[in-house]
Amino acid sequence: MTDAGTSDARRVGFIGLGAMGRPMAARLVAAGHAVQGFDLDAGACRALAAAGGTASASAAEAARGADLLITMLPDSAAVRDALLGAGGAAEALSAGALVVDMSSSSPAETRRLAADLAGHGLDLVDAPVSGGVRKAAAGTLTLMIGGPDTAVERALPVLRAMGSTMIRTGAVGSGHAVKALNNYVSAAGLAAACEAVLVAKGFGVDPQVLVDALNASTGRNNSTEVKLKPFVLSGSFGSGFAMTLMAKDLRTAAELAETVGVRAEALAEAARTWSEASAALGRGADHTEIYRYLEERTT
Ligand code: NAD
Repeated sequence: MTDAGTSDARRVGFIGLGAMGRPMAARLVAAGHAVQGFDLDAGACRALAAAGGTASASAAEAARGADLLITMLPDSAAVRDALLGAGGAAEALSAGALVVDMSSSSPAETRRLAADLAGHGLDLVDAPVSGGVRKAAAGTLTLMIGGPDTAVERALPVLRAMGSTMIRTGAVGSGHAVKALNNYVSAAGLAAACEAVLVAKGFGVDPQVLVDALNASTGRNNSTEVKLKPFVLSGSFGSGFAMTLMAKDLRTAAELAETVGVRAEALAEAARTWSEASAALGRGADHTEIYRYLEERTT
């Protein structure tokens, strides 16, 4: 279905066309928005053009004339660079335009960025997502949205093309705080399920049977339901969400706990384990390869 020609159609700049950004930008095109996108990877820009958007030669070019600029980048450092670095997008935006950071960024950095963008006359909304590549392609992501009400209201007609569940989390930065905490709980669930598989195997229990039992019992979680069989037990490790990004999210959550003065020992331990796993497995690893790391560690 397309909304082309409705009054909700916008000119949208989109920076970061990776595993998530590419299908999200394609949803915006399908909804009738004029999408001008940029990524450091020229192949990602060509894919947007093939999907009906416009490939821009720089972050600034993607921002020029846009009502709303979306960033879907690895982390806060990349977002700051794309917006405020040399040749960045902020200078090219008209005062009054809206920036929406959908990356999983650091909440403290997002507050700082909001203050810096306000100096350019720009509002910032943080709207990180959950649901992975599959839900990005289907337009059924969950969005955790922080920022002033007026700015969020302006963003919603565009955001609705990418997500089906919108959770308002509070002031700017709160979406990123909630997202980091979500990924801590998600990562802990995956690591616990992987450890359970290793122990079950050691005792001679078929891992497929263990997963069936978990999914019919109180131990089930998102990872036991949608990750263990397709990505871990199959050995494909192809979920589309990088280990480096999950490790970053856990460090963000652990830093947040420290900042607010909460002693969260399980979180600190998880952040350490995932950072070690990421360093050991290297940049190309999928986050579901935490299983391989835990398995190697036991032998
Ligand atoms: P990705 O690595 O696949 O894509 C990031 C893209 O950003 C790459 O194409 C890269 O070339 C580009 N890039 C980096 N720096 C840039 C810059 N300065 N200017 C322009 N382009 C730049 O990552 P992803 O999986 O798409 O994740 C993006 C964000 O979404 C991350 O913050 C991640 O934590 C979060 N996230 C990912 C998933 C998932 O399942 N993959 C799910 C939810 C949230």
